[in-house]
Amino acid sequence: MNDCQSQRRGQLYVISAPSGAGKTSLTHAVIERLAARGRKARFSVSYTTRAARPGEVDGEDYHFVSVADFEAMIAVGAFLEHARVFDRHYGTSAAETERWLAHGQDVVLDIDWQGARQVRARSEDVVTIFIRPPSREELERRLRSRASDDDAQIQRRLAEADDELARADEYDYQIVNDVFDDAVEALEQIFWATDPGAQGAS
Ligand code: 5GP
Repeated sequence: MNDCQSQRRGQLYVISAPSGAGKTSLTHAVIERLAARGRKARFSVSYTTRAARPGEVDGEDYHFVSVADFEAMIAVGAFLEHARVFDRHYGTSAAETERWLAHGQDVVLDIDWQGARQVRARSEDVVTIFIRPPSREELERRLRSRASDDDAQIQRRLAEADDELARADEYDYQIVNDVFDDAVEALEQIFWATDPGAQGAS
């Protein structure tokens, strides 16, 4: 951690999108670009009760926990926000988020609109970004190209996508992920425009 990072509190970001909008790859690309310019931002690792998909690593992609453990965490107020998405629980650790922000690291929450609302209600300092697919047809094509979901899951994700898209106007910024590199550029610009330690924002 350099001096600039330790003097400033980290900035909290919320990024939401319908699944298939490319949010995860976009955000990873931006975090790498920020790191190349000396700005440390990290993805928050959520807790979830859903099963790991092939290739997902416990503690890296999510903390995969039982419903009983998740409910115990709710009971002790461990979550900054939590929600049910696709009949599964998802939540963000309050303590982990606070620890990184206090260390001057920016934290990116990849959460749904319900979680975004809760975080907005609890923190004035949060920057919220919504990523849109170019069209619903393109979203459906992207979802179908994922080997992991069956038809029923795809239909459910499309229904959820409509729900998510209906909330896009609640966010501070919206980006359309049509051409990937352009979307990365636009997202990076938002990060610099909202950098609390303005030195890096040249
Ligand atoms: P997936 O199961 O495809 O990884 O994620 C499904 C949805 O859950 C995505 O919209 C994702 O943003 C959302 N999600 C993931 N983690 C969290 C979380 O901690 N809180 C909330 N509210 N939503 C989350």
